[in-house]
Amino acid sequence: MNALTASSPAVYRVVMPTIFERVVSREIPAEIVYEDDEFIAIKDINPAAPVHVLVIPKVASERLDTITDEAHMGRLFMTATKVARSLTPDYRLVVNVGPGGGQTVFHTHVHVLGGWGEDGPDGHV
Ligand code: AMP
Repeated sequence: MNALTASSPAVYRVVMPTIFERVVSREIPAEIVYEDDEFIAIKDINPAAPVHVLVIPKVASERLDTITDEAHMGRLFMTATKVARSLTPDYRLVVNVGPGGGQTVFHTHVHVLGGWGEDGPDGHV
């Protein structure tokens, strides 16, 4: 569903819901592994690791560095570590920020990657 917003009386802008907002509203199905009032965590549709989950704030911000609420950002990472620890003992958290950082969905999310075993992933950051 589109929301029509007015930034001035004469200028209207159609705001498309992000794909993750459509997951939150259950318009798009997803494998949900965690949910609370503020966040949802779903399995990535195209996993890059044996464990690959996305931790997503329900209220969309376009990218990590547009978040101004420090407490919200803190809870995002607290939630990501909590979800990660529920799935795998060791893990990697990744946030792609902007097209040049590899971001393809412009709704902030944290990737939880893991499940490689004791040797860890191929390649290091
Ligand atoms: P990023 O490139 O950091 O923006 O990550 C976007 C991630 O969202 C990618 O890993 C996609 O595989 C994943 N993705 C896109 N659409 C869906 C979906 N409907 N359900 C689950 N994961 C998705």
